[in-house]
Amino acid sequence: MNNTLDSKEEAARLWAFPYCDGFVCREDLIFCYPSAEFPQDPDEVSNRLQDAMDYLKEVTELNLKGTFRYRVIIGYRDITKQRKPSQPCWVRNLQEGLHWIYLPWKNKWKKKLMTPPDEPLHTCAHELVHPFYYVSRLYTKDKPWGGNEGWKDPFCEFLRGPVRNAMGLDGKGWWRDRIADAENPTKENWGKVAGEILIMAWRSYKYLGEEKIDFAERFVEEKEEIREFLLWLFENFRDRPLRDKLTFVDKLRKDYEGTGKI
Ligand SMILES: [Zn+2]
Repeated sequence: MNNTLDSKEEAARLWAFPYCDGFVCREDLIFCYPSAEFPQDPDEVSNRLQDAMDYLKEVTELNLKGTFRYRVIIGYRDITKQRKPSQPCWVRNLQEGLHWIYLPWKNKWKKKLMTPPDEPLHTCAHELVHPFYYVSRLYTKDKPWGGNEGWKDPFCEFLRGPVRNAMGLDGKGWWRDRIADAENPTKENWGKVAGEILIMAWRSYKYLGEEKIDFAERFVEEKEEIREFLLWLFENFRDRPLRDKLTFVDKLRKDYEGTGKI
């Protein structure tokens, strides 16, 4: 495995993650960690993160390298010493063609991010989707109405199910919970909108009489159909902005009726 960094990647790693002295390279990512404190096998974690990247490349048919010249650099930040953000996030520098995933280390999230086996994979199952969303046609920018920024988190929360699955975490449970969010009138989170996206897929791909929950458990493993569904989503929703969580669900349903469906 090629464990060497380009000089730009090396500078970008040191700039963003001075707290991390260890790093592992894979085809599409560089994973940085504090070697004395990291409780897991960094090679194993990096392999599973690469599994997620492989899955995302396949189902989205998107090539990040056209936009980002370098691999995504994932690492931990000591936010007691570094500037915020204190929450996990994906950060980009388009001029340089670099991008990073920031994972906070010493803060209220510490326990969550440090708990094997689900972290940092669970958090990355969302954050790794961001660059794919960004290069997809769904991210429509430079429009008078401001572009499709509102799709970002619902899209990530939707794909988090099969991406968790690709990394060996429970993807079925994630999608079952999103269906429950979509059907719960008191919920107003991005997961609810992700559930609504899943229900659009159910309308098109369910077997005769198949319940939504059963569909969610089956469909999370249907890679080919998810790929087809994503292409349809990119094509049909790229000019349909989502504004706020409250109006998302009604709007999605109306918009779905307005598309040719799959
Ligand atoms: Zn996000």
